[in-house]
Amino acid sequence: MTFKDLAIIEPILKALQEEGYTHPTPIQEQAIPILLNRKDLLGCAQTGTGKTAAFTIPILQHLYNSKGDTKGKRKIKSLIVTPTRELAIQINENITNYGKYTALKNVVIFGGVKQGGQTDALRRGTDILVATPGRLLDLISQGFISLQDIKYFVLDEADQMLDMGFIHDIKKIIAKLPFKRQSLFFSATMPPAIAEL
Ligand code: AMP
Repeated sequence: MTFKDLAIIEPILKALQEEGYTHPTPIQEQAIPILLNRKDLLGCAQTGTGKTAAFTIPILQHLYNSKGDTKGKRKIKSLIVTPTRELAIQINENITNYGKYTALKNVVIFGGVKQGGQTDALRRGTDILVATPGRLLDLISQGFISLQDIKYFVLDEADQMLDMGFIHDIKKIIAKLPFKRQSLFFSATMPPAIAEL
C-alpha cells in the first residue's frame, strides 16, 4: 500500500515524498479512505502512530479540491482543537509541510502568550485553524473568530482534554459549530465521558 493507492492528490503526494514518507502507517491506511469519503471518525490512537497525518492529509485534500475563488478574505473551514500549545504547534507545522504545494493557509493559536500576533494572522484569513480550547473561546468572544463556516472539525487527544478539565470548553466549542460538518475525534483511551461526547 502506498499513498498513491489511497488516492492522495499530486500536490500532497509530492510533499509527503519530500518528508520521506514512503508508506502509510496502519492508522493512515485505515482512516484516510474513511475521511476522504466524508464519514465521521472516532479513532483510538496514540501519539507516534502517524495520526496527525491521518487527519490532516484528508482535510488538506478536501479543501484543495473545493478551493474556489481565493480572492477576498479566507474563511476558517477546518478547526483542529488540541489540549496543549506543544501539540498545537506540532500539528500546525505538519499541515504547513504536507500542504506546502496546496496554497492553503493555516494558523495556530494558543494561550500563555500575547494575542497580537495571532489576531493579526487571523485578520489576514486562514483555511485551517489549529487551537487550544481556552484561547479559541477567548478570541471567539472577542469577535476575532467565527466558526460558522467550519466543515471539518477535529478533536485531538480527547482524553487528555478531559484530564485537563477542558470538557466544558469543548462542549461550548461544539455548540458553536455548524450542524452539517465532518467530525473527527481522536483519543488514546475511550472513557465514558469521551464516548458520550
Ligand atoms: P504522530 O503520531 O502524528 O505524532 O506522528 C509521529 C511521527 O511519525 C511524526 O514525526 C511524523 O512525521 C511521522 N510520520 C507520520 N506518518 C508517517 C509515514 N507515513 N511515514 C513515515 N513517518 C511518518
